[in-house]
Amino acid sequence: MDITLLGTGCPICDTRRFGPANLVRAAGAEFLIDCGSGATQRLIGAGTKGAALEAVLLTHLHTDHIIDLYQLIVSSWHQGRNRGHRVFGPPGTREFVAGTMELWRVERELRIAHERRPSTEAFKIEVAEIGPGDVLKHGELQITAVEVEHQPVKSALGFVFACQGRRIAISGDTRPCRRLIEAARGAELLVHEVMIHREMAPVLGVRSPQTLAQVASYHTLSDQVGKVAAEAQVRCLALTHFVPVRFDQAALLAEVRRDYAGPVLIGEDLMRIDVKTGMVTSGDTAFGLAWS
Ligand SMILES: [Zn+2]
Ligand SMILES: [Zn+2]
Repeated sequence: MDITLLGTGCPICDTRRFGPANLVRAAGAEFLIDCGSGATQRLIGAGTKGAALEAVLLTHLHTDHIIDLYQLIVSSWHQGRNRGHRVFGPPGTREFVAGTMELWRVERELRIAHERRPSTEAFKIEVAEIGPGDVLKHGELQITAVEVEHQPVKSALGFVFACQGRRIAISGDTRPCRRLIEAARGAELLVHEVMIHREMAPVLGVRSPQTLAQVASYHTLSDQVGKVAAEAQVRCLALTHFVPVRFDQAALLAEVRRDYAGPVLIGEDLMRIDVKTGMVTSGDTAFGLAWS
């Protein structure tokens, strides 16, 4: 089982860090977790494509996590997908998907009629709304949904992927969350969001001190995430969903290492972590996490 961080950014537009999305490969299948801006391009970069996905899992319905869902669907049609999509997400996902499909219906019908491609199955979207504790199975892979804390978002999920005795926990968007810590306990890898609050200054006309306090209130801060990983006793911590997207990496590492003794990865788009072998590849570099 491995995970590729497809997009490690946030709502802030950036050329290096695209919107939130992750790809898990396990049990001979590929799962997309969230579908932020640029996810379809990053899937190509990861050596796959929307047409190949087994299922899409959404952590919550904030735009930065779902904005490219229609782009995924329509591009998978162009790629020759000949089966429907399965989308799993919190309550509200059905309405979001139905609304998205309706928004593009006229354009889609025109295009289908004109282009005469062999299949329109890619546009059949099967939605399952899921909640805390729900378990999805695919062969030896088991995916468990965990309720995280992202209020005022009513329903936000993290996911724990378990396969052949290895586990990857994905936080989604959350403030430090007890349930997630319990669910992630002892996992090989925790992929966790982080906000580097100290690097976010108020900007006149863009964000006030109150804006920053509000945003910080539903994310995990850089001086908290190491404590989360230490308490969860995970073997490795990979950081993602960086707010802001450009920051002092050495300072962040030093801050997190004050609380967490295990390996800390500053996530990059297309960083791939194999939890069976412990191999990490990112750009031109590859190294091992020294576990067996
Ligand atoms: Zn969010
Ligand atoms: Zn987000």
